[in-house]
Amino acid sequence: MKIIDILNQDQVTLSFEVFPPKKADTYDVVEQAARAIASLHPDFMSITYGAGGGTSQYTADLAADLHDRMGVEVLPHLTCVSSDRAHVHKMIKTYQEKGIENIMALRGDLPKDGHRSQDYTYAYELIQDIKAQGDFCIGGACYPEGHIECAHKADDIQHLKNKVEAGCDFLTTQMFFDNTIFYNFLYRIREAGIQVPVLAGIMPITNPRQLQRSVQMSGTNVPERFRAIVDYFGDDPKAMEQAGIIYASEQIIDLIANGIKHIHVYSMNKPEVAAAIQANISAMLRS
Ligand code: FAD
Repeated sequence: MKIIDILNQDQVTLSFEVFPPKKADTYDVVEQAARAIASLHPDFMSITYGAGGGTSQYTADLAADLHDRMGVEVLPHLTCVSSDRAHVHKMIKTYQEKGIENIMALRGDLPKDGHRSQDYTYAYELIQDIKAQGDFCIGGACYPEGHIECAHKADDIQHLKNKVEAGCDFLTTQMFFDNTIFYNFLYRIREAGIQVPVLAGIMPITNPRQLQRSVQMSGTNVPERFRAIVDYFGDDPKAMEQAGIIYASEQIIDLIANGIKHIHVYSMNKPEVAAAIQANISAMLRS
């Protein structure tokens, strides 16, 4: 099933992201965690893609496993900035052969060794390519605080508009910890004429290192209120996990109460965190 058809049902949806293993010897552990998350029956699950493409087979295998064995709709990711066209086409064909109808199309982070693709510079080129290869529902990334490489938010929104016009059916946001930033972004992109569904990406922070890493990579603003929570509970793993789950759940409740329909949780492969968040908002789903 195409994810856009799930989103267009006009009900509140909850979906989870998982990441594939980096090495073959941890595939089983990751698969087990992903299956446990799938058993919560989310509206769909996304599976990330290793930046260099070296673990691309794990993304495809995990997606197929969740789709075929667990009966969950899946959204495998695909990046292009470190790949040539032949590899990208191979991956699109693999997804097609596995009966997958959705692809999250991304540029990927710029490789540190400077070895960039000759075939792709931006995600919109990958989107055009996927559309030329088959009938996929395509997701794209967006950044409520602006993409870290783009100096001006207005330019970033114009690039986003071009990306949607290239064929994005929906967008998923980078994590954010302050909902007002998301509401402001939504207002600005709607004003710019971007009308596709936008999934709010929520990251439950369950340890201080995770927050540090996330902020380093994305430049996301951490509100004082949340910083104080992490400062206070950061040394107590159980208390921090509980506080992180509650903070994320409160964010989601506020989003739903303000008319936001689609919530995408970065589960970090933690079934207990995914389950706790789902339990906290269960009566609000499909409303
Ligand atoms: P683009 O849309 O191409 O944008 C990248 C930059 O280029 C932006 O600054 C934009 O403003 C600018 N730009 C775009 N078009 C133009 C143009 N025509 N002219 C000039 N500038 C332009 N990374 C992974 O490696 N694997 C994953 O699985 C993964 N999943 C993700 C999921 C989500 C929901 C998000 C938000 C990010 C994910 N990422 C993933 C990270 C992502 O790859 C990086 O943030 C990357 O730096 C940008 O990817 P993009 O697809 O948004 O790029």
